[in-house]
Amino acid sequence: MQHHGIKPSVQRIAILNYLLTNHTHPTADEIYAGLSATMPTLSKTTIYNTLKLFSDAGIILNLSLDEKNQRFDGCIQPHAHFICSCCGKIEDFFPEEEIFALPESSGKEIHKVEISYYGICHSCKCR
Ligand SMILES: [Zn+2]
Ligand SMILES: [Zn+2]
Repeated sequence: MQHHGIKPSVQRIAILNYLLTNHTHPTADEIYAGLSATMPTLSKTTIYNTLKLFSDAGIILNLSLDEKNQRFDGCIQPHAHFICSCCGKIEDFFPEEEIFALPESSGKEIHKVEISYYGICHSCKCR
């Protein structure tokens, strides 16, 4: 965190830890619900500001795969998402890295890649 020029505070560290240990791609509200019990002084505004700070610095990903909510991801390795249209679960998976690259000849600079697969997960399919 420090080498990104971000001053680590107790609340910031808690938010980052939450994202690194919960691979559910939570919304800001879900992070608030998960942390507010143990951190009663934590406000939603702090969470929103911290998430913006972290995603601007590239420490976390800000996902737009959910039309209604912004979701956040503590995994910044290139990866794709599988979204179950039945239970709404978002799973990480790691396809061949080439899929994330444009041909070098295109001369474009990539800042963000989002690859989402939609379908029905294993446990919903077997229900
Ligand atoms: Zn499912
Ligand atoms: Zn992810």
